[in-house]
Amino acid sequence: MQPHVTPIDFASLDLSPALLKAIQQQGYSSPTPIQSQAIPIILSGHDLRAKAQTGSGKTAAFGLPLLQKILHNREQPKLATTGNQIGTLILAPTRELAIQIAEALTGYASAIMPKVKIQSVHGGISINPQMLALRGGADILVATPGRLLDLAQQNAIKFTDLQCLVLDEADRLLQLGFSEELNEILKLLPKRRQNLLFSATFPDELDQLIAKLLISPVQIDCLAPEEMLIEQRVITVTQERKNALLAHLINEGNLQQVLVFANAKNTCNRLVLKLGKADIYAMALHGDKTQAARNLALKKFKQGECRVLIATDLAARGIDIEQLEAVINFDLPRSPNDYIHRIGRTGRAGQSGLAISLLCEEDEAHFRVIEKRMKKRLEREHFEN
Ligand code: AMP
Repeated sequence: MQPHVTPIDFASLDLSPALLKAIQQQGYSSPTPIQSQAIPIILSGHDLRAKAQTGSGKTAAFGLPLLQKILHNREQPKLATTGNQIGTLILAPTRELAIQIAEALTGYASAIMPKVKIQSVHGGISINPQMLALRGGADILVATPGRLLDLAQQNAIKFTDLQCLVLDEADRLLQLGFSEELNEILKLLPKRRQNLLFSATFPDELDQLIAKLLISPVQIDCLAPEEMLIEQRVITVTQERKNALLAHLINEGNLQQVLVFANAKNTCNRLVLKLGKADIYAMALHGDKTQAARNLALKKFKQGECRVLIATDLAARGIDIEQLEAVINFDLPRSPNDYIHRIGRTGRAGQSGLAISLLCEEDEAHFRVIEKRMKKRLEREHFEN
């Protein structure tokens, strides 16, 4: 994959041989823009405010330097993690993203010996195994806010030794009504620590959090939607013809891995049936599905067994599928920020992608707001099939 800006190689980023080996095993040939910018800043100990979205390579942008710091700290016995202490806390808005970050970090840490303990905790499953897993602490804990607070209340984790806090998808952490939980969590953490904040957008609500959280942060701005390699199409259609258009786009375009966004859980379920009738194997991913069903849908989609995943914004948050071919907005997202998040699922890490929005007459005004935010006017195609 090709980075968008001045490429430098991983070897010049002051990372240990074990990390360079893992990077090579992952098949990364050069750092993405967010990686080449963020890694030196994080290693230098500064607070960071980074504008970057899922797909930009941001997990490695914070994961690699965090692991490098853990290696460095190991050489200083006083800083070793003891008891049920957490060294680094990464907060993520959804279970899927928390699991995904932990998996990615485990990959990046695979050549480090002795092993780095990376644990993820999230709601939706029993708390007891997580409490057990946290005995003896963790070098890195990736958590959703609610479950983290539950664990802290039960004394299953201690933060006295915490050195770094990462907020991933910070705009989402706030949007989901997490700000009270975040405040509670911040109260538990030691004041002296490094803070890294990653967000695809910086709405006004973030200002307060940034002021409270970050001390003289270095700022990186990596997301420029108009620079992303994404072909955006907009097709006008009547409500009645939307299902037919969706099936048509998938079949005619011979799309093999499509993420379709719908705004309601029952729309997701209904579309699975409708596409099934057009011989398109689709699965739904939304909050009413059990964790097992969500994992299964993701697995089948990632393996290419299921061609279409139909998801709500919340459930699709942070899903990382390499080279996701296309994103279709069956329903328009509520906000321009969500539009950027959605289309960022495709064209990932430098690959080109396709984002198609279905537009009914009543959506026109709303879509103009999105275009205004994108500073881009998209040509309307018409579906008259
Ligand atoms: P992320 O933004 O962290 O969700 O990463 C998006 C995708 O890019 C993941 O599949 C990563 O494995 C991949 N990726 C991250 N860094 C690189 C890199 N330097 N070169 C190629 N792919 C990368």
